[in-house]
Amino acid sequence: MPIVFAVTVALAIAVYQFLPDDPWLVGGWQMAIGYAGVAAVLAGARRLPRRDRLPWWLFAAGLGANVTGIGVSVVCTELWQLVDLPTPSDPLFLLLYPFCAAGIAVLIRRRETGRDWTAMIDATTVTTGFGLLAWVYVIAPSAQGGKITMLGEATQSAYPIGDLVMIAMMTRLLRGGGTRGAPFWLLTASLGAFLVGDTAWVVVGNLIDQGYPVEDIVWVNRALSSIFLVAFSLFGVAALHRDARTLGAPAGPAVARLGRVHLALLTLASLVAPALLAVQLAHGAVTDGMAIVVASFALFLLVVTRMAQLVRQVERQAQQVRELARRDELTGLPNRRAWNDELPRALEIARRDGRPVSVAVLDLDLFKQFNDAYGHPAGDRLLKASATAWHGELRTVDTLARYGGEEFVVLLPGASGEEARDVLRRALAATPLGQTFSAGIAVWDEAETSDQLIERADAALYQAKNAGRNQIRAAANRPAAAAARK
Ligand code: GH3
Ligand code: MG
Ligand code: MG
Repeated sequence: MPIVFAVTVALAIAVYQFLPDDPWLVGGWQMAIGYAGVAAVLAGARRLPRRDRLPWWLFAAGLGANVTGIGVSVVCTELWQLVDLPTPSDPLFLLLYPFCAAGIAVLIRRRETGRDWTAMIDATTVTTGFGLLAWVYVIAPSAQGGKITMLGEATQSAYPIGDLVMIAMMTRLLRGGGTRGAPFWLLTASLGAFLVGDTAWVVVGNLIDQGYPVEDIVWVNRALSSIFLVAFSLFGVAALHRDARTLGAPAGPAVARLGRVHLALLTLASLVAPALLAVQLAHGAVTDGMAIVVASFALFLLVVTRMAQLVRQVERQAQQVRELARRDELTGLPNRRAWNDELPRALEIARRDGRPVSVAVLDLDLFKQFNDAYGHPAGDRLLKASATAWHGELRTVDTLARYGGEEFVVLLPGASGEEARDVLRRALAATPLGQTFSAGIAVWDEAETSDQLIERADAALYQAKNAGRNQIRAAANRPAAAAARK
């Protein structure tokens, strides 16, 4: 289908180059190709699920208005000699911009699940840079033309402004997430063709203003209008493409990558203001100083915002990595690394406050048997459920961490040996699925290192296991000689 359509309109555009120079025929031919594009967009939209049709309807409306403008323009020129801006066809031509911008906006919303500020800032940067260029070379000069009315000036300026809006939306589309199949690139190419056509139009207009009689050269006119015919047709091909649906498909979580082309485009856009200033200085007169100042302010602020965003993102990710590195994946508890950081700090605080601190090491009893009997996944579930159950029995100040395998440690600040034992007893009773653990408790002797403290608790655990499991043992004091040596 899209192939048949593409070949047909390609032939029509080829024939268009050789039509006799009759404005009615030429205009009619353009409209036929344009309306074929509109029809293709509508036909493509019909094949899509109802909720995916809106952007295509908007595109069809914009294209339809634009094509109708061609007809109105021929009638105005041929029948009524209406050529001064604004002509009745201008509003129709201009409708292309808001409708296409709205269509792209809807697509962007569908394609992206969250709000993508980075893409927004990039699009604004590019638009500001090129907007300054457009202002200095297209919009401002056109506004200074003497013989034209205010409304005519406004109309003339509306085209480059419309182009700028399109550039902004296209940059936003290209910068954002979503699938990049053939329809995506066809759509981009079509919008790009409109921009190229508008630019060529401005160039030809300038040449005419400077006295070159380009408007009388038939092939120039034909080539120029062919750019728009190609744009209409590409829209149709995009809509008829069998993957057209994917255009509005939501992307996965956006990964903001800054490729070389993006970076080059952003750099180029940011350098427009100083480059323009340099050019005007070289010509001996800075005629657009204020515009350059305003654009420079905007560009600097955008670049700083972008930089701040990146720095914040890096900081956030570093924080995430830190947290991930300190958390046990299965149970969500602090892991051994976090525990090793935490314990010396807790001992330091206890030393300062002169309060006791206890630690317990606990180990599920006969966990290997449980695994063998119910399977490893069931073992995992028991580990998780146990962690939750024990955590529920601890005081809020206590810290439970997974030391490794089915071995856990508890930090009990301010707890004497007896208090620690009470807490552990409650935890033992709360162990799920009728399972048990053995534990060793050691009260810090205010002199030993955290390693030595854990070692004593571990030794007590070993005794608990040897004494038949399902019990809690207090650790022996360190031998006096060792304690004296520290
Ligand atoms: P004891 O009462 O002497 O501690 O006996 P046990 O079976 O609990 O001890 P042992 O050290 O012989 O076995 C520990 C088992 O824990 C072996 C290992 O497969 C299992 N295990 C360690 N980590 C995990 C884990 O993350 N998930 C599961 N499902 N099993 C684990
Ligand atoms: Mg065990
Ligand atoms: Mg073990």
